[in-house]
Amino acid sequence: MEQVERLLGGRTRNIRLNGELARLFRERSWPQTAKIIRAWMIWVSVLDVLTLGLYAILLPTGTVMSMLWPALILPPAALVAAMVFLRPRALWLQGVFLLSAVFFILLSVALVGVNAGGELYERHLTIMLFVAVTAIIIFPILLGWAIAIGASALAIYLVFQLHNPGIEVGSALAGTLFFASGVAATVVARRTATILAHKSFLLELRDRSRLAELADANSQLELLARTDPLTGVANRRSMMETLYRFWNEDLTRTRGAAMLMCDVDDFKRLNDSLGHAEGDRCLVKVAGIIQSSMRDERDQVARYGGEEFLVFLPGADEQEAMIVAERVRTRVEAASLPNPTSRVVPYVTVSIGVAALKQDRELVSAEHLQRQADAALYLAKKAGRNCLIIHAPETGQTSD
Ligand code: GH3
Ligand code: MG
Ligand code: MG
Repeated sequence: MEQVERLLGGRTRNIRLNGELARLFRERSWPQTAKIIRAWMIWVSVLDVLTLGLYAILLPTGTVMSMLWPALILPPAALVAAMVFLRPRALWLQGVFLLSAVFFILLSVALVGVNAGGELYERHLTIMLFVAVTAIIIFPILLGWAIAIGASALAIYLVFQLHNPGIEVGSALAGTLFFASGVAATVVARRTATILAHKSFLLELRDRSRLAELADANSQLELLARTDPLTGVANRRSMMETLYRFWNEDLTRTRGAAMLMCDVDDFKRLNDSLGHAEGDRCLVKVAGIIQSSMRDERDQVARYGGEEFLVFLPGADEQEAMIVAERVRTRVEAASLPNPTSRVVPYVTVSIGVAALKQDRELVSAEHLQRQADAALYLAKKAGRNCLIIHAPETGQTSD
């Protein structure tokens, strides 16, 4: 991309593609280039045969017979090149076949006139130059190849004009010079067209890269918008989305679900005794412990408030939810993170309220289930903390 930016930053006429960029450009433009070359080759063959047919009608048989063998060089040369450009091949191979084919085509056109003689001699040399010029203009090929085509056309022109009994050497040279300037102008046009093609390729590359960067930044932003910056677990908004999706897809009916509301015990005291920074570190560790206590990636942990974590367990029943909750509680306790002034033990502990959907009962909303977990948490705090309480729907109360 650095190279792309540098090339686009400079003047258009100085754009040169090298190395990987040149390879990429060739790869990208090959299908179109090959299609153009194949079409040109086929049309030149068709025109060659049609012209010969026309001459057969208009010219004496002897003249037509003298044109026959040179005219027959063209179709095989063109068709071999068309075949070569059916599949991508090594660059040198493409070059060798294309340039040889064009050379034989030009030679064939020239020889048809040379063998016929008379006014057809010079006319065919001009047609030959015209054929070369069309190739230079329409083939999106390397500049070197375009120059080679132009040079071989001029060489053929010069050689045959020097042998033209109808004109002087001076006239042959003047004609060659005249056509050389035309061919040169065509090559320059080819160069401009190639540079413009390179530029639009570079612009396309830049657009793609910017689009990818934008998409990347977007997904990063999206992730940030769903993540709690301190603990790295999901934030409240993300949890709400998960719950909304789950309830909206009506998965509650088929799969059931449970929630755990986990709250760090006497966290205010931890902050007061060890400082806010230590409190933050504690939250990060507790979040990590809760996350590692999940069954698998289906379960979602979110930081719901300051030192409160809401856990969503899709598909879990009461029993499973209690197992997960107990795992969270014991692991936090076992981590022995200091909370010296806690009224429970001098370590960090959590209280957890559990609520699960009952399959045989009327379905409750996500908010309702969460309130049940909250209510159960409240009772866990009242029961002395560092414990789990599951919401008991029978009484609208909760029980241990
Ligand atoms: P309980 O056992 O009843 O839950 O007592 P508690 O002290 O944990 O609960 P309380 O709601 O009284 O205090 C919560 C504290 O959490 C108060 C607040 O300063 C602290 N807190 C909230 N967010 C953060 C945070 O991001 N970092 C730190 N270090 N403390 C926080
Ligand atoms: Mg607390
Ligand atoms: Mg709290």
